[in-house]
Amino acid sequence: MQLTDLQFDREHIWHPYTSLKEPLPVYPVAAAEGCELILADGRRLVDGMSSWWAAVHGYNHPHLNGALQRQLQHMSHVMFGGITHQPAVDLCRRLLKHAPDNLQHVFLADSGSVSVEVAIKMAVQYWYAQDHPSKNRLATIRGGYHGDTFAAMSVCDPVNGMHALFQGSLREQLFAPIPQLTPNDDWDPRALEPLAQLLERHHHELAALILEPIVQGAGGMRFYHPHYLAGAAALCREYKVLLIADEIATGFGRTGTWFACEHAQVAPDILCVGKALTGGYMTQAAVLCSAEVGAVISQGPAGGTFMHGPTFMGNPLACAVANASLQLLEQNQWQQQVQTIHQQLVAELMPLQSLPTVADVRCFGAIGVVEMHAPVDVAKAQQAFVEADVWIRPFGKLVYLMPPYIITAAQLTKLTDAIADLARQA
Ligand SMILES: *Cc1c(COP(=O)(O)O)cnc(C)c1O
Repeated sequence: MQLTDLQFDREHIWHPYTSLKEPLPVYPVAAAEGCELILADGRRLVDGMSSWWAAVHGYNHPHLNGALQRQLQHMSHVMFGGITHQPAVDLCRRLLKHAPDNLQHVFLADSGSVSVEVAIKMAVQYWYAQDHPSKNRLATIRGGYHGDTFAAMSVCDPVNGMHALFQGSLREQLFAPIPQLTPNDDWDPRALEPLAQLLERHHHELAALILEPIVQGAGGMRFYHPHYLAGAAALCREYKVLLIADEIATGFGRTGTWFACEHAQVAPDILCVGKALTGGYMTQAAVLCSAEVGAVISQGPAGGTFMHGPTFMGNPLACAVANASLQLLEQNQWQQQVQTIHQQLVAELMPLQSLPTVADVRCFGAIGVVEMHAPVDVAKAQQAFVEADVWIRPFGKLVYLMPPYIITAAQLTKLTDAIADLARQA
């Protein structure tokens, strides 16, 4: 890559959540392999991010490459209207096999945010079909992140999600406070009171409660008590509000169970997956819904049509690589991998808690979070990380790791050492 390319990038290309004025530096990556990103200048960085929760098997994986190459010989894409194909059927069968028994139908969507739109639409159509059109708002908990499209944005944390900027264009939803008890705290049922009050007051206008089970990801990397989730599910049943579990970040083993809902033995009515679904190869998401939600929507107007159908729905390449990724997870003993990463994160990050710059350290499954007292200078930190041959991207006060499941102990130590250096020097 030439200097002029970087210049062009800086002047013409928007990167995620950046300003065109004074954008943060970007690092040219030429290739990626195993647990490493290879920069254009040849430096190899150990990846601590899994490209935002997605690349659980690492990069350039022969099994995933092979699945794509085989699929490419048959077809890259065909419309899903009036057509079906083996990769889609296999994928939906696999998704249902690993999901709670009540979930019986799958809608394939093209990204996580779109899957959240689809889930919300399902909830609204469910109540509409039963002559309750006024049950069309959503409840959620603060500190969440559900994507960047408008309905998804409306249930993101109102402060982090900069709702003020979009006043008038965003539906106003109902927010319960961030759950205060972590998985390590003793449970206290009073923790559910604010949510219970919200549902009691507003259930007549609520289609669904949407939340990220146990782990709130991009909204602040917080972990909350499984009893909160179990209690929320019980409240939803009591007040006749659907439960949407957004497992886009947590799905496929990241938290130590296949779905994070399993920590609380909760079976949601609607469940979204994305991110790691294709092993990080391409964009693809899915919405699973219960037999009941499917049946009720199907009794609705217009012959029970569900009103969604993306152009690239069920893309065969994405389905093929997702199938291969799920196969790998089944073969690779992901429980063991996640457990091993967890123990090492605990051993190597928890001691940082004693540093004066560090506000909190927390680990859950294969996720490790160091929360600093002060916001991290991202450009400076990232440069130091790259000089230490690691790829870690802090946001706000948070420096965190969610490495590919295949990471070696030595590679993981390189990542935790780099964070320790940052915390000591900050
Ligand atoms: C990333 C994410 C989304 C949005 O997915 P995209 O594929 O980026 O649209 C939604 N919900 C959660 C919990 C996520 O982590």
